[in-house]
Amino acid sequence: MLSYDVVICGAGSAGSALAGRQAAVRGLSVLLIEAGGSDEVPQVMTPEQWFLNLDSERDWRFRAEPGAGVAGRALPLTMGKVPGGGCATRPWPDLAPLTARHNRSVSRGRGAVANIL
Ligand SMILES: Cc1cc2nc3c(=O)[nH]c(=O)nc-3n(C[C@H](O)[C@H](O)[C@H](O)COP(=O)(O)OP(=O)(O)OC[C@H]3O[C@@H](n4cnc5c(N)ncnc54)[C@H](O)[C@@H]3O)c2cc1C
Repeated sequence: MLSYDVVICGAGSAGSALAGRQAAVRGLSVLLIEAGGSDEVPQVMTPEQWFLNLDSERDWRFRAEPGAGVAGRALPLTMGKVPGGGCATRPWPDLAPLTARHNRSVSRGRGAVANIL
């Protein structure tokens, strides 16, 4: 049975940074679990296509409750569901894609990236 020193849930900015530090700096084995699928798709790889991630399978598709202050609308609360989290689904070419970096940094510490969905 596989075992790890540290298990981190969510490969967004925070989880990725934490995993990288634990693996590369402390030399621990790390399992980084991400609910979303691959970020190696044009909508993430190509900064100009960032908006195509909204309301897609790379978005948790949360919505606010309808509010009187916004004319009764239920506004979308986008949150990335993909390695890199919200940083992979917004227009920042220096931050996305992140999978290769996750794999590099985590593997240095005998870790792994796993998708649970
Ligand atoms: C469209 C958009 C535009 C943005 N623009 C800006 C901007 O211009 N400037 C700025 O500073 N910030 C911006 N942000 C916000 C920024 O992206 C977030 O603040 C940042 O990504 C938060 O990082 P995080 O690691 O806390 O969470 P997230 O990046 O949300 O990462 C959380 C990760 O955990 C995963 N996860 C959640 N639940 C589970 C579970 N149960 N099991 C496994 N995995 C799970 C998610 O899929 C996700 O990958 C933007 C966000 C979006 C969505």
